[in-house]
Amino acid sequence: MTKLAYMKTGTDLNTANIFSIFASVQGEGIYVGVPQIFMRFTGCNIRCDYCDTTEALMPQAVARMEMTPFSGNMKLAPNPLSIEVIAGHIKEMRDVFSGFHSIALTGGEPLVCNGFLKKLLPELKETGLKIFLETNGTLPEKLAEVIDMVDIISMDIKTPSGIQSGMVDWNKTKEFLEIASGKDCYLKILVGEKTQDEELKKAGDLAANINPDISVAIQPVFRDSNGKNCACVSLKRLTEAYDLLRSVMNDVRIIPQVHKLAGWN
Ligand code: SF4
Repeated sequence: MTKLAYMKTGTDLNTANIFSIFASVQGEGIYVGVPQIFMRFTGCNIRCDYCDTTEALMPQAVARMEMTPFSGNMKLAPNPLSIEVIAGHIKEMRDVFSGFHSIALTGGEPLVCNGFLKKLLPELKETGLKIFLETNGTLPEKLAEVIDMVDIISMDIKTPSGIQSGMVDWNKTKEFLEIASGKDCYLKILVGEKTQDEELKKAGDLAANINPDISVAIQPVFRDSNGKNCACVSLKRLTEAYDLLRSVMNDVRIIPQVHKLAGWN
């Protein structure tokens, strides 16, 4: 097998290229504060200006697997990882710490590996933990294939000003939210230096037409246009965004990335 084939993202239905599996505390959105097992996939179908997981955009030769929950001690396992290896490791973590709320599928974009997820998720369900999907909200057809096995969906609403191509297919966003709203679902909208009122209004109207009671988390971009990590959006701008969204949605909150403030993974 060539090195490139070896490192291919999403490989096949029985294996996947994984960046890391580790325990931490959810730092974003309305579930902030719950302990989770995070499984970070590699690969993503879009490129955001403010991506804070660029290391997970490309396939990796090895996956980092935390040996004991919350220890930070990682062992390296050659990619791609099999369903048996992943499910076995996650079950071991759950056996060590009984307080996990859920298993967070994150990335990258986990739905890029939807065929693999269809086979993995029944195994993860055996842990008794909820399946928590963190997604960029752009792949409705792939969500439809796994929705029955997902419990909670943290859906980004991507705005044109935050995407490198500047292209957002609002029809896909709508289609995705229509499917996701059948589950416990909340929205995350990043607000940065370039975010426009018009796109916030568009996002709010789109969500309100589906269900105005879906919670919305406004997340300040924690990185400026020069790549420097900082809370680079003023409270004034964040509350303006809040006002725009709150005019059509019933539950809107401004929640920064708590794990970054705390220095957690
Ligand atoms: S969708 Fe997420 S992982 Fe993909 S580029 Fe955007 S921020 Fe990064």
